[in-house]
Amino acid sequence: MTLQLDEISAEEVHALAEKFENEPLELVLRWAWDRFGERAQIGTSFQGAGLVMIHHAVKAGLPLPVFTLDTQLLFPETLETKRNLENFFELKIESIYPEQTPMQQVAEHGPELWKRNPDLCCTMRKVLPLQKKLGELAVWITGLRRQQSETRQKTQILELYHFDVLRDRYILKLNPMANWSREAVWAYIAKHKIPYNPLHDRGYRSIGCWPCTRAVSEGTNERAGRWTGFDKTECGIHTFLGDNI
Ligand code: SF4
Repeated sequence: MTLQLDEISAEEVHALAEKFENEPLELVLRWAWDRFGERAQIGTSFQGAGLVMIHHAVKAGLPLPVFTLDTQLLFPETLETKRNLENFFELKIESIYPEQTPMQQVAEHGPELWKRNPDLCCTMRKVLPLQKKLGELAVWITGLRRQQSETRQKTQILELYHFDVLRDRYILKLNPMANWSREAVWAYIAKHKIPYNPLHDRGYRSIGCWPCTRAVSEGTNERAGRWTGFDKTECGIHTFLGDNI
């Protein structure tokens, strides 16, 4: 069930966000599980931060469910990574799909919509499916990090997110990796030998759908390889849906 506004006040959200800045990741995840149980879930696209969160949750015995958005336009390596992680962590990762298959989208909107209107393509294949999923939850746990891009610099560890303006629905967005650096994430993954997407070793720093992701050189913005040629750095799942309170 989606979050009810009488379950937590904006003041408490702000106070917890400050407190969580200085708490270990495991304790932040435990807060979500103790207070909301399976209404708190980890959403991941198998970038580094998501893997670190899942590892902490499993190690701490927190059975937080994990889901991913499968746009049906992911790299084969990403799908393989999902299977490897399910085996490594011994858990099932739920895949969330768009309403239309890629072929149905072609029939309605023509081929390669991502080249002509990536915002519409992202809305159909990412934003709307995610919005439907968030309607079942109270807490969406993300791997957002401030260091990833300019648009993510103000990320708080806990936010009250107006994810559905039309139906006036809210969710708690928990971003427990917000203050982690890229270096810390990858050092953790190496130390614990967590399987990761092999595309990271081929210059892909942030990995999304195959038509909109390319390899980039070291030292560039982490999300520079996404939507090359468009004035677009976010698919919309962290920006379109509504505002933080
Ligand atoms: S990232 Fe590209 S292919 Fe994927 S949903 Fe967005 S526009 Fe479409």
